[in-house]
Amino acid sequence: MFDIKVIHILTQVFRLSSSCLTDWLLPASCLLCGDNTHDDMPVCQPCQLDLPILPHHCFQCAQFLPTCTSDVVKCGICLNNPPGFAATYALFPYEPPIIQWIIRLKFHHQLHIARALGKMLSHHIQSRWYAGKALPDVIIPVPLHPSRLRERGFNQALEIAKPVAADLRLRLDRTGIRRIRHTAAQSSLPAASREENIKNAFTVTRQYSGQVIALVDDVITTGHTLRECSRLLLRQGAARVDAWCCARRG
Ligand SMILES: [Zn+2]
Ligand SMILES: [Zn+2]
Repeated sequence: MFDIKVIHILTQVFRLSSSCLTDWLLPASCLLCGDNTHDDMPVCQPCQLDLPILPHHCFQCAQFLPTCTSDVVKCGICLNNPPGFAATYALFPYEPPIIQWIIRLKFHHQLHIARALGKMLSHHIQSRWYAGKALPDVIIPVPLHPSRLRERGFNQALEIAKPVAADLRLRLDRTGIRRIRHTAAQSSLPAASREENIKNAFTVTRQYSGQVIALVDDVITTGHTLRECSRLLLRQGAARVDAWCCARRG
């Protein structure tokens, strides 16, 4: 069996990316237990049972709703102040082990986690969320400000969106939304300051007349970032915006 040293030599000789070779040569191993997985999923079947399940939630922003109101499908915020995006599809609640995956991805540069999350997203999109429905025309990852991008070296939303676009054969638009103002991390602010913090942080200059767009982000917290991005896309003619996220904070 090929090991990491062989892959390193092959990447040098053939000038290929190591992720591409790793995916090709090594069997996928489970993100949780490390065992081989056999169905191209990043978490093995026994471990899938241990993953947290998104509780009953608002279909528009994925905010958790009390289970006693199981007939209610929209939260009070979306009823009183509807966001531009039509629906939010989130894989998991922001709980262990998802929190650790996001931290390893963003702060320890473990990009294989972005590929794994992207694989899980495309699986859910095809088999559940959009089963029997038309897929969006284009995928747009929520961008980082250039200074944050330089500091981190990559945009986690883009890295998650890449395998989704490849699996679903959708156009990946990397530059449709640009971040023009550096803002404090939304997660570092109290909820009341987040709307103000994100105002005028983005710009969209391209036309999206009649297109259905999927916005991709790693974590949705209050939804202000996605609200601002979808508002700008709709202003540029988009017919509908959906949000695809890996995790929802309650
Ligand atoms: Zn496992
Ligand atoms: Zn809502």
